[in-house]
Amino acid sequence: MQNLPTYYLPIDKNGRVVIPKPVRDALGFSSAGFVRATVTDDKMILESGRTVCKFCGNENVICEDLPICSDCIEKVNELNELYNGRIQKNENG
Ligand SMILES: [Zn+2]
Repeated sequence: MQNLPTYYLPIDKNGRVVIPKPVRDALGFSSAGFVRATVTDDKMILESGRTVCKFCGNENVICEDLPICSDCIEKVNELNELYNGRIQKNENG
């Protein structure tokens, strides 16, 4: 990642801060998206709000708590069925 300068950003009366374009571009913050803000001690960390699938990186995840896309859920279900079918086959013969 490129080195960016330290910015001193004005906060308006409603608490809004504009994230400079070079920072948005470098961190992949999209104008219509979300950023994740984490406050620790005396700092606020802003990260890309995009949650991606842990398996394939797809952005269409089911929910924040389960970062898996619907395609991968389908594959996991197929594997699960295959696996269960194999177990039953082995139990029967
Ligand atoms: Zn996926």
